[in-house]
Amino acid sequence: MPPEPAHVVAIYPGSFDPVTFGHLDIIGRATRIFDRLIVAVLQNENKQSLFSVDERMEMLREVLLPPAGKQNPAEVARIEIASFDGLLVNYAAQRGARVILRGIRAISDYEYELQMALMNRKLASRIETVFLMAEETQSFVSSRLVKEVARLGGDVSAFVPASIEARLRERLSRPRPLREAAR
Ligand code: ADP
Repeated sequence: MPPEPAHVVAIYPGSFDPVTFGHLDIIGRATRIFDRLIVAVLQNENKQSLFSVDERMEMLREVLLPPAGKQNPAEVARIEIASFDGLLVNYAAQRGARVILRGIRAISDYEYELQMALMNRKLASRIETVFLMAEETQSFVSSRLVKEVARLGGDVSAFVPASIEARLRERLSRPRPLREAAR
């Protein structure tokens, strides 16, 4: 008899500030490979973000999980939106995840991702980093660039879902607090 297939849990960590079609493409591919996917928003105090961790999680939920009442329990159980701080490998171990999922866009992502994957392997040898490539039409999309384009009044509808575009517009139309604006 063939061995029972293992239940593989993957963690997809990132800033998701905000979630883009690039992220959603990677998540869609991952759900076809792994049994369970934890999309984990990094609580990074040092990084200046446009949206709070709670807002970023809320946006992920909004675009990834169907509204209450329309949920297919089997499907909902496969994707979880979470947040974490501290060492990623510790969080992965704590959540029983064997895979760290990352997306690769261009060669420019490769060097940093390779360093991080090898460091994480050194720290936790049983956790594997798996890289997926998004559709080539998303290969230049980053949250940073989307925010920059939106800030300058450009159309970002090809890069983020409509609800996220609306949130970006709303957030960027508000005057920034003085302390921040002075930077
Ligand atoms: P970013 O602000 O660059 O979008 P994140 O920290 O939110 O960064 O990204 C989380 C992960 O998703 C990273 O592994 C990143 O390389 C990947 N990712 C982000 N955008 C894309 C994309 N357009 N195609 C493939 N992978 C992506």
